[in-house]
Amino acid sequence: MSAPAPSAPVNRTDSTPAARPPLPFLPMTRPTIDEETIAGVAEVLRSGWITSGPKVKELEAKLSEYCGGRPVRAFNSGTCTMEIALRIAGIGPGHEVITTPLSWVATSNVVLTVGARPVFVDIDPVTRNIDLDRVEAAITPATRAIMPVDLAGLPVDRDRLNAIAKRHNLRVIEDAAQSMGSTWGGRRIGSFGDFVSFSFHPNKNITTIEGGCLVMNDEREAKLAEQYRLQGVIRSGMDQIEVSLIGGKFNLTDVAARVGLGQLPRLAEFNARRRELARAYFELFAAQGAAVEGLQLPPADFTNTNWHMFQVGLPEQKLKVSRADIMARMQEAGIGTGVHYPVIHRFALYRSLGWKDGDFPHAENAGRNLLTLPLFPAMTRADVVRVVETLAAILQAHRLP
Ligand SMILES: *Cc1c(COP(=O)(O)O)cnc(C)c1O
Repeated sequence: MSAPAPSAPVNRTDSTPAARPPLPFLPMTRPTIDEETIAGVAEVLRSGWITSGPKVKELEAKLSEYCGGRPVRAFNSGTCTMEIALRIAGIGPGHEVITTPLSWVATSNVVLTVGARPVFVDIDPVTRNIDLDRVEAAITPATRAIMPVDLAGLPVDRDRLNAIAKRHNLRVIEDAAQSMGSTWGGRRIGSFGDFVSFSFHPNKNITTIEGGCLVMNDEREAKLAEQYRLQGVIRSGMDQIEVSLIGGKFNLTDVAARVGLGQLPRLAEFNARRRELARAYFELFAAQGAAVEGLQLPPADFTNTNWHMFQVGLPEQKLKVSRADIMARMQEAGIGTGVHYPVIHRFALYRSLGWKDGDFPHAENAGRNLLTLPLFPAMTRADVVRVVETLAAILQAHRLP
């Protein structure tokens, strides 16, 4: 006979089973920063040069290599890279830019910032990206550019997109904030096309804490980007500066760049891990059967996407509770979730500019029902099991008869 386990309760006076320690909170996302990067950051801090300098140059060179040798400049956000691309393209008052209403509000805010008007086109409910079938109908003589967004890292069809742009002589500013490491036709997003903007916010697939970069077509554009990045300044000789346009304060620090230098070599590994976890989600949701009936999964793309997010569409007509209730119950169960995104055209600012409910029904439906589940490289398969089982139980408990 085996002895009782040493931890077995011997003097229990009640019949309640021993409480299991609560599982640690599982966030929706979390960056992976390795010790070597942390040590590298400390080195930069001790070096005496902490703002834009050699580390930014080194990061830009590595990013350019990653993008097939195209010119790349780094900035302190993804948002400002898009604003700067618009400025380089000469887009401003009187111009229109076609984009999606289902994105982070930065995408269309920058269009307003430069004085142009965003023109929203509804999404394809399957890909959740701008519906390219509807783009040409939105083009007017004032249209200057298209700004596609690769939601959750799933790329917009670049062949069709670039053909439309070429046919109508439009610039393309790819909001690829979420799609670093995604591909189209076997080529990396960023290695071809017109302007490509990436973000390095901590939620993105690689981070510089805050930051971003812009991929451009030639050195003329890259020089302009440098000017817009820092007060419009051009330096020459030992002591000369000239200012010929209104720039801002958008430079990345060397501390942040050092974080990026530790992240970029790990991008492929991070994304491979994201893919494995996304596969686990599909497998485990399928195994739930009727418990998750009506739940809309993302397109099962294992060719192009970097699996920046795993977003499910809740079956609102079949539920007694709201998305907010489901998020609260997930949180009570120790699981973080997110909303990406409430549609842009329903924000007060955009309503005041003339947009209204019902303008883009597919985007509005997605904006109401999409729920972002945890997905980040340090997650385990057991974490995915926990998310799927918890969500399935909540849906079952609140299903309409
Ligand atoms: C993150 C993000 C941005 C903005 O990037 P920041 O670095 O936060 O300025 C823009 N568009 C989309 C789709 C994003 O996900």
